Amino acid sequence: MIGLHDFNTLHNEEFRKEVLVAFENILAKNAFVEGEYNQKFEQDFAKMQSAKHCLLVANGTDALEISLLVNGVQPGDKIGVPGITFYATAEAVLNVGATPVLIDVEKETGLICPKSTEKCIKEHNLKGIIPVHIYGMPADMTAINKIAKDNNVYVIEDAAQASGAFIEGKPVGSGPNLTTFSFYPTKNLSAFGDAGGILTSDDELAEKIKIIRNHGRGSDGHIMGRNSRCDHLQAAVLALKLPKVEEFNQNRKNVAKKYHELLSSCSQIRLIPNKYLETSAFHLYPVHLDGRDTRDKLIKHLQDNQIGCANFYDRALSEEPAFSKCAGEKEIAEKVSGSVVCLPMNPFINDEEIQKVANKVIEFFR
Ligand SMILES: *Cc1c(COP(=O)(O)O)cnc(C)c1O
Repeated sequence: MIGLHDFNTLHNEEFRKEVLVAFENILAKNAFVEGEYNQKFEQDFAKMQSAKHCLLVANGTDALEISLLVNGVQPGDKIGVPGITFYATAEAVLNVGATPVLIDVEKETGLICPKSTEKCIKEHNLKGIIPVHIYGMPADMTAINKIAKDNNVYVIEDAAQASGAFIEGKPVGSGPNLTTFSFYPTKNLSAFGDAGGILTSDDELAEKIKIIRNHGRGSDGHIMGRNSRCDHLQAAVLALKLPKVEEFNQNRKNVAKKYHELLSSCSQIRLIPNKYLETSAFHLYPVHLDGRDTRDKLIKHLQDNQIGCANFYDRALSEEPAFSKCAGEKEIAEKVSGSVVCLPMNPFINDEEIQKVANKVIEFFR
């Protein structure tokens, strides 16, 4: 079996030993939430991503909701989200009482489209937008940030799939926007359960996030907050994994490059544009097909050959009951959603396995 993920290698004997030492240490100190590993991870991750602050929270959805709250979101505010993303991006908007407006995506990548962004901002009077670095590929933040600035709209980057990605040579999260992460087990940088984080270089927003995540408890009493603390055990796992994430992302990139080489002659599939080979964090490796029918058959063929693969975002947000009445643009998103297959992608796939996956894809179309 060639897995989409490979947790056995990720959590090998050596790593388990390190984790158990950390867990013993936590138990010895009875320090269960927001402990020394939280601080260590927050410092190290902020440094790695060239941001001033990292704030750990309970999960990636909370990271989005809290980012909306510290931007002053009010009930009924319209917030733009791309039509192709994980459900949670739009769910977070609803959870804080705001209204999602769907922004269309680029056909080649599924990434948020700057033109559609501008149109939706103007037509729907958006207060904020949440571009998503989908599959680990960076959205066009130069264009998006300019449009947002010109129209006085705030931007929250959903980088749940993009720990370690680069945007024009700079680490994701080092820019002007609040940038949110999920450390759910399947993400590039992952805990043993739920965790999330927010990067910012704004001292004031960082302070507000710290207060909100801990029941609104500040130095002089409480404001409305919530419980979104990250527990110490998860923080320890993250702190121990962090030093490896760059190497692992490099491995992912090498896997993607080999897929690209081997599949470039297969005319029935569209590969993502070459420029993303350098900039994506390769949370997933998507290939685009001509529609749902071909996609389902290819998935079956690969699975029959013990190759893990999946069709993430089978439905555009506009095809989900909770968001089907949302305003905005959705034409391309609905086309793209049904035509993507993600091939096995993790840091531990070897050349032989890559060759086998490529052979089976090519064989399917022959
Ligand atoms: C995983 C993910 C989230 C949500 O993260 P959770 O930790 O599951 O709450 C949000 N947005 C995107 C794009 C994701 O992939």
